[in-house]
Amino acid sequence: MANQTGVIVEESLNALLDDETFLPELQGSSREKAFTSLVSILSTPNHVNKSFLRIALENGNVVRIPAFRVQHNNILGAYKGGIRFHESVNEEEVINLAALMTLKNALHDVPFGGGKGGVVINPRDYEVKDLNLICRKYVQYFSQIIGPDKDIPAPDVGTSAREMDWMMGEFKSIHPGENYRGSFTGKSVENGGSLGRKEATGKGVYFTFRYLMHDFIKQQHEWLSERENIFAKTALAHYDKSLTLAFQGFGNVGSAAALEAYRCNDLNNKVVAVSDRNVTLYNSDGLDIPELVKFTENNKGDLPVDDVELKEAGIKAVVKDRSEVLSLDVDVLFLVALENQIHKDNKEEIKAPIIVEGANAPITSEADSYLSGKGKVIIPDILANAGGVIVSYFEWLQGRETQFYSEEEIFRRLFDKMQETFDVVLPQYFGDPFPLRQNCYIHSVMKISTILYRQGKLY
Ligand code: GLU
Repeated sequence: MANQTGVIVEESLNALLDDETFLPELQGSSREKAFTSLVSILSTPNHVNKSFLRIALENGNVVRIPAFRVQHNNILGAYKGGIRFHESVNEEEVINLAALMTLKNALHDVPFGGGKGGVVINPRDYEVKDLNLICRKYVQYFSQIIGPDKDIPAPDVGTSAREMDWMMGEFKSIHPGENYRGSFTGKSVENGGSLGRKEATGKGVYFTFRYLMHDFIKQQHEWLSERENIFAKTALAHYDKSLTLAFQGFGNVGSAAALEAYRCNDLNNKVVAVSDRNVTLYNSDGLDIPELVKFTENNKGDLPVDDVELKEAGIKAVVKDRSEVLSLDVDVLFLVALENQIHKDNKEEIKAPIIVEGANAPITSEADSYLSGKGKVIIPDILANAGGVIVSYFEWLQGRETQFYSEEEIFRRLFDKMQETFDVVLPQYFGDPFPLRQNCYIHSVMKISTILYRQGKLY
């Protein structure tokens, strides 16, 4: 891992050496040797599968499209993670995202390992028939490594239930008789998907923020007031106020998270800004999120870009540049777009004291240290955005049992599962000086190392 995940995993691993609960069975040089193997296991993926999909496009051209499936680690279960369709996706990014999936699943006790896929296209540039062919070719090229107990893809940036349905259909044709339902998650409900999967990541992002910055702080108020911890101070200063919220990103995850924030209005929080690839929309009295969602659904996913479109949609807002969302004077900034959005050149512009990572890796490690150093609470990706993969796990289970849960049951199970993780991680975080990200990584790595040791792979 030659990037930020790698840097933080290595730092977390160094912290583990001083921790008595890390591989207590081993002492002295055996413990150090085990530690070195752990570093090499986690810093390299098990497999990097790469291909060029040959596609005859509807317009008559024949193209070769780079495609990846990275399988990072499967010690906790089958490789698991989304497939991203984006024009700038590359091998290093997919490796990094696959490593994050290993850590995310370990953190939340989801019995899967980590994987990720990528196809280097901008899906907006292709006809529906081309996209269908790309999906089917992807499955044909990687058909031997994918499967319900091997590697289970799901949607990610640029893909949705439609693509998963196509891919599962192709998998079923190639492997007749296999338990094809479990080969992909994030499918449509009619095609064996789970109720609530579409909204799961966004709802989980808001639930994480709310639990961490409100419910937990309220319950632990006294204990927190006695802590000499800069993050506890930031949390205590905000937990009982009505807060202003801004969302960078209004795709599947961003819009679901903003809608959840809008609907859970018992705390009097206000969504004052949302942004997408074109604009930032701002209203200090709060934006009408349900109307904005309706507008984007009929406008290929894009927010209104000017006063004419805003008027048409009946929405009151000021139009600002798309990058302005990051530097607004708000209490909470939700990063729900893409990776590397806050970096060395804009880290000083961030005013929000609380930042929630709905996207994977939206802050570079340099900017992360800078912002944490300023006492900002950063709720990291692997903690906050696991709702998608947790409900993917429920989908996979439901497919096996051929019994399906209600939407209410899905969200109850999702929030219970996330809360179990928070209740383990949060006391550590507010009790010691490490940022929350590092605490989460330590927690994940500890679980992975115990299983590696028990299976005789770490000695
Ligand atoms: N792409 C989502 C993520 O990054 C979901 C993965 C899954 O459901 O397997 O967590």
